[in-house]
Amino acid sequence: MNVDTSVWPPRYDPTYRPDPTADFWFPELECLHPGARDALILDKLRRQVAWAWERSPFYRRKWDAAGVSPATLQSLEDLAKFPVVQKAELRLSQAAAPPYGEYLCIDPGEVVRIHGTSGTTGRPTVFGLGSEDWGRIGEAHARILWAAGIRPDDRVLICSFFSLYLGSWGALCGVERLGATAFPFGAGVPGQTLMAVEWARELKPTAFYGTPSYALHFAETSRREGIDPRTFGLRTLFFSGEPGAGIPATKRLIEETFGGRCVDMGSMAEMTPWMTNAECRHRTGMHLWQDLVYTQVCAPETFAPLPFGAEGTPVYTHLERTSQPMIRLVSGDLARWTDEPCPCGRTYPRLPDGLYGRIDDMFIVRGENIYPSAIEDTLRALEGFGGEFRVIVSRREAMDELLIRVEYAASHADPARQAKLSATATARLRVRLGVHPVVELVPEGTLPRTEFKACRVIDDRDLYRRTLQEVRR
Ligand SMILES: [Zn+2]
Repeated sequence: MNVDTSVWPPRYDPTYRPDPTADFWFPELECLHPGARDALILDKLRRQVAWAWERSPFYRRKWDAAGVSPATLQSLEDLAKFPVVQKAELRLSQAAAPPYGEYLCIDPGEVVRIHGTSGTTGRPTVFGLGSEDWGRIGEAHARILWAAGIRPDDRVLICSFFSLYLGSWGALCGVERLGATAFPFGAGVPGQTLMAVEWARELKPTAFYGTPSYALHFAETSRREGIDPRTFGLRTLFFSGEPGAGIPATKRLIEETFGGRCVDMGSMAEMTPWMTNAECRHRTGMHLWQDLVYTQVCAPETFAPLPFGAEGTPVYTHLERTSQPMIRLVSGDLARWTDEPCPCGRTYPRLPDGLYGRIDDMFIVRGENIYPSAIEDTLRALEGFGGEFRVIVSRREAMDELLIRVEYAASHADPARQAKLSATATARLRVRLGVHPVVELVPEGTLPRTEFKACRVIDDRDLYRRTLQEVRR
């Protein structure tokens, strides 16, 4: 095998690459019997935890308080005795010990890349990555992209921000390590999508990376230029940053629009290599590449690991990160997991429905739990849907009201067709969500498109509550 797992962190052979006809990058690891894999994971985990224990005051304090130490790890189940890490704790640690926090486990001088979050909800988080980590991230991503069907003869158009955002860079390093041709086009500059369309027409890329919202925006832009997106010849489109590629109707739409496979990927920036949640080319839901990042799907209140078949929140643990290792980081996403076999032959468990919601972006209307992804899935399956929507939750006469503003396609300008679309949308949403929504149709192109992560829910109930308090005062 071309990786030495007897040392930690494992040593990869940077010159290794499988034959292009091979299905697997490392068949010995990817198709390993789950029991044998658990032994490998435990071995890596013990060394990862010892590494953090010896170098990080953050983990040392946290684990001391919980009465655990590296010696606690006698079996893989013992990991559940370790307290989880919440993102807010990382921000606090970085505020107290700027810039990297007390969980940087390498010398600051060894950091070769600084990335970060945009900090939309408070203080931004700083990611410091060491050079050797960056090399291993390339190894992991190459191996996972191989499973998605990317080969050295692919030309990969990367259409997402080249900024502090780790997604684009992670895709780039994987593509480069795999030996394919990267075209790091970027995104976010006015007029850039039109330029990307023009470049794509000339360069004929065979693969695309970005967010699902952006791919659909890219397709709309091409059609306005009179170009059918299928003529680009994209074989594989892989995504992260949003759940869309795992939402069945969005996946179907992307595949029909471009004529290529739509592959869902991505965990969290903190967890880079973030591709360790990733579908294979069979697209049966994201595999959890457990020997790279060990994932447990846990109960959202107690963070106790749940059995296969259950729904919970993924909790992630690095197994080969030296710079800022995350041990039991809570994602806050929602997923169901299974160990049912996949036709590809990999023995990793899967998230068959991807990450379909967040604990905190689920909202409650009249007692029903509602996920924006369920609304998206319903609307994208409708004939006459114009491509974008907004959800507005408000309160009228002390009752929650769910207003869904839905674009109709240009083909549905006729009032009779609109009435039919509105009635179908209302009926299907009612069945799917369990509450009766008010559907308001607006012409295609009315609602702003996003080049990044879509934010489609507006909750007006807080405003209502504040107004009520003022009236009472
Ligand atoms: Zn598979």
